Amino acid sequence: MYINSENLLPKLQGEAFGIDIEFSNKRICLIQISDGKEIYLFDPIALNLEQYMRDFFQNDAIKIFYSGAQDLKWLKTEYQIEVNNYCDLKVLAQKEPDQSLIALWKKYCGVQFERDDKKRLQRSDWFARPLSQEQLFYAALDCKHLIMLRDILLQQYTEEEKKFIHFSTDLKEPKLLRYLKKQLVDNEDVLLPQKIYRHIKFQDPFQTDDQKVIGLIEQLTKKHHEDYKEQKKQRFLHFQEKFTTHKPVYSNCRIFSLSGQQLCFCDQKKIEWYVKNGLGEYMDEKSIKLSFDPVCEFDEKEMKFYNEERANRCVVCGASSNILKYQIIPYMYKHNLPNHYKSHRAHDVVIICARCHEKASALQDKKRAEVCLVVWSSFVILWGGEESS
Ligand SMILES: [Zn+2]
Repeated sequence: MYINSENLLPKLQGEAFGIDIEFSNKRICLIQISDGKEIYLFDPIALNLEQYMRDFFQNDAIKIFYSGAQDLKWLKTEYQIEVNNYCDLKVLAQKEPDQSLIALWKKYCGVQFERDDKKRLQRSDWFARPLSQEQLFYAALDCKHLIMLRDILLQQYTEEEKKFIHFSTDLKEPKLLRYLKKQLVDNEDVLLPQKIYRHIKFQDPFQTDDQKVIGLIEQLTKKHHEDYKEQKKQRFLHFQEKFTTHKPVYSNCRIFSLSGQQLCFCDQKKIEWYVKNGLGEYMDEKSIKLSFDPVCEFDEKEMKFYNEERANRCVVCGASSNILKYQIIPYMYKHNLPNHYKSHRAHDVVIICARCHEKASALQDKKRAEVCLVVWSSFVILWGGEESS
């Protein structure tokens, strides 16, 4: 039924409606609504539908769209309407091997429609009047089976899953992303946002209602914080036991050239290697004299660096127990640097105690997660921009 005058406006009643919208010339040109029995094609060019549509879209009935993100944007821009009880059939069709509307029509409604025809009609001129018979047929078809398809697709879900998929919106990603970013800034524990993201993505992929998602996050957060304190303590003790030492990290052994010049401080293993290979002999327990004068490849500044005795203390707090070596630039980044930087690794290694290591690692993890999130955000923006209707 084509609605282009006020006395034709129907009183829409029912629990659920199938809806589609056609655009041309940057405006809404046709609004198709099916109540399961009748299909109404509303002409917003002939009629001012703003108030009528606001009353309809904001009532409690379920509004079923297929991939309706774009439609929601148009309703908001043109009529300032926020759709209440939105349901996206494409989200519901997640368990289908082929989720396209054409495939669903074919499989469940016995409707054959060519993909190319659908594309051509979608892009046809919807601003023109009168609309062609073909356009009117397609416009009606687009909303005709949505209610039935929803009923069929819902049968594929358990009761538990259904709680999450009702009234879903597929616009949740940017909002969730903002929420996760905030968590990341507020939270010293960077594992939490990752945990939440994983939980939502893999355990409740059908959870698409923002309020429910946020409720779930809060629940997870509370549980996580309770476990977190204890785990953190255990992790720290384990780390301290396994990776730190009370013994000196630097043995501060010395190597002299044949002519008696001190070349560098180094560890015990290095002087043992020289002696074992007949390249030098012990002067005392912790120093050797080489059997030759090596060609020095270091400049004055570097010579100074290698000829300084290293203190066996945390560079942050000065503690001398429970210490370990710490790389300032994480290996995962460093191994990608040019060779010039990699060959001067000693500059990047400092001594740190277990307590200071815990703080440094947390900051390092946070920075790393921020870097990852930047990459992830741009992915979501790209992915979110690709919409079809
Ligand atoms: Zn320290």
